[in-house]
Amino acid sequence: MSLFTLPEDQIAIRDMARDFAAERIAPRALDWDADKHFPVDVLREAGALGMGGIYIREEHGGSGLTRLDAALIFEALATGCPTVSAFLSIHNMASWMIDRYGSGQQRERWLPELCRAETLAAYCLTEPGSGSDAAALRTTARREGDDYVLNGTKQFISGAGAVDLYVVMARTGEAGPRGISTLVVPATTPGLSFGPNERKMGWNAQPTRQVIFGECRVPVANRLGEEGTGFRIAMAGLDGGRLNIGACSLGGAQSALDKALAYTRERRAFGKRLDEFQALQFRLADMATELEAARLMIYAAASSLDRGDADATQRAAMAKRFATDVGFKVANEALQLHGGYGYLSEYGVEKIVRDLRVHQILEGTNEIMRLIVARGLVQP
Ligand SMILES: Cc1cc2nc3c(=O)[nH]c(=O)nc-3n(C[C@H](O)[C@H](O)[C@H](O)COP(=O)(O)OP(=O)(O)OC[C@H]3O[C@@H](n4cnc5c(N)ncnc54)[C@H](O)[C@@H]3O)c2cc1C
Repeated sequence: MSLFTLPEDQIAIRDMARDFAAERIAPRALDWDADKHFPVDVLREAGALGMGGIYIREEHGGSGLTRLDAALIFEALATGCPTVSAFLSIHNMASWMIDRYGSGQQRERWLPELCRAETLAAYCLTEPGSGSDAAALRTTARREGDDYVLNGTKQFISGAGAVDLYVVMARTGEAGPRGISTLVVPATTPGLSFGPNERKMGWNAQPTRQVIFGECRVPVANRLGEEGTGFRIAMAGLDGGRLNIGACSLGGAQSALDKALAYTRERRAFGKRLDEFQALQFRLADMATELEAARLMIYAAASSLDRGDADATQRAAMAKRFATDVGFKVANEALQLHGGYGYLSEYGVEKIVRDLRVHQILEGTNEIMRLIVARGLVQP
């Protein structure tokens, strides 16, 4: 990518995702939110267009695209619904972990269907007693012959109860990050159960449940990478996941800004259109400016991850923190510019505010993003 323009092929990818969002997602997003409906059929359609394994290698069934392509896609899909786009991003993250750290057999077994989104995957790290301090996780995987036997509970798992594969970080050894391994647990495994669908502020178009393991037996052949490398695998997944979530904030916020521009052009007060008041013009200008800055950070950090730069993790953390904070702020300002109508669900802005709020919390809170950035700046 040149610093200032996207090449034609990336513009085509973005436009494909934008059209899909406009035709297949946006018209139904408010209903899905109200009905708490998880649109698996639409995710499958996205999979058929190559969006189920965006940055998975082509020889393993994926689209073989870059992290920057993925950011463009998730940003575009989120203009239709940030929640649907964000779920697809988690599915892509979990599938990529299988591509990157799995064996040839594991890739052959799981990736083709995951890339077409015929099967869907969840990412299971957080537990009731450990979120930010993920290395303190307590779910155990006890070795018994050729199997692991899992016991414990994962908390806040996106897609849980509705997806086919669970990529699970569990303790196979000592306390701390070196005692963690990554296991792929099929939904059909005996002993696997789920909590009720959480009642949430937003992200209603995807379920969030506990995933509960009770003497849940999976073959050792389902482990990704070596025993004890699971924490590293989990963190590698999150580098890309954070950029994707940041990109979802960009798309949601852009949609809210577009709605605010259209509304202030129409609405009149004190004998003028709202967008003729300079105070509001300046607010719109600031919203567009900050969104553009966030966009550049996400694109630059995605390119950094594509190149494998040494500071890619830090740049992803910076970009996730900035883009999700700006995204929420812009959406909230857009609501304000709609006056009382912004508070009504039919205008679609309050849903975006509710959806984008959680992006400041998940895939590492924005406090943890600052911790990662600071670690690279301040020597112990
Ligand atoms: C809707 C939703 C979907 C989710 N989906 C998934 C999923 O699919 N898979 C998954 O594994 N997890 C998922 N999560 C979990 C999410 O990643 C965690 O909620 C998040 O990492 C924070 O963990 P916690 O909630 O335990 O908060 P805590 O870690 O308890 O943090 C509480 C507060 O303390 C702050 N804090 C903690 N430690 C520090 C520190 N050292 N310095 C400064 N501040 C600190 C935090 O930033 C936060 O503000 C999801 C969460 C939600 C709400």
